[in-house]
Amino acid sequence: MIRIHILGTAAGGGLPQWNCACANCVAARAGKIAPQTQSSIAISGDAEKFLSWFLINASPDLARQIESMPRLQPHHESPRNTPIAGVLLTNADIDHALGLLLLRQQEPPQVIYAADETRTALEWIDRVLARFSGIEWRKTTAEFQSLSGRIGFRTIELPRSVALQLRDDTSGATALFAPSVGELTDELRDAVHTSDVVLFDGTFWSDDELAAVRLGARSAREMNHLPIRGGSLDFLRQSPARRKIYTHINNTNPILMPETRERAQVEQAGIEIARDGLEIVL
Ligand SMILES: [Zn+2]
Ligand SMILES: [Zn+2]
Repeated sequence: MIRIHILGTAAGGGLPQWNCACANCVAARAGKIAPQTQSSIAISGDAEKFLSWFLINASPDLARQIESMPRLQPHHESPRNTPIAGVLLTNADIDHALGLLLLRQQEPPQVIYAADETRTALEWIDRVLARFSGIEWRKTTAEFQSLSGRIGFRTIELPRSVALQLRDDTSGATALFAPSVGELTDELRDAVHTSDVVLFDGTFWSDDELAAVRLGARSAREMNHLPIRGGSLDFLRQSPARRKIYTHINNTNPILMPETRERAQVEQAGIEIARDGLEIVL
């Protein structure tokens, strides 16, 4: 059995974002919709009795996320410790990697699994952490490798990112975490079709969404995120997965607001909208 705990569901900036006065950010500040921290999940297997956890991506909100999840907090038997055994990275984006700096007080080097390109792009974090915990880099692979206990994982290469497929080696159940999908490659389509649970890039509803709040903003596709409308919605609707969940949702996305037409379309397609703290048992 694998537990997937969703620590944060927002794209870069969070909800509300400090400099944003879009309808969703205003509603979040007014307490009308729930605020969301930046995207990250924690995973653990029953072979470790759920005492040891890996993070997928380390967000700038990590310290707050740890305080909101007792299982990620240090136990009382020694003064300094952590149940966090390591971090897997999908790419080197600030909102996926800045949290590594927040773990700098750790004693042994931080165990980080990343593709070579991600490691290269994070050379600056490597240099900063060298004066603190340091990093023990581990390679990701396209074939399943063992993470710990009975959890296996592999990467699916995407443009400027990877998706991660997790497998419970006892039951064979699989989950896919794909927060930055620029393109529906054949390999990704296959991975979605063979996963029981799919956590998928829900950053933007439409390709031109950001231009409404910031003149001249890049399109969703230019930012390496396939929009929901005209992008992932029809594909996910047809996927046989037991649970399909949008996560890594930008604060401008209308699906965050209850009773919007866009949210209704997502729900009618049988797709859930993630929220911070959601736990999935695989
Ligand atoms: Zn991101
Ligand atoms: Zn906003």
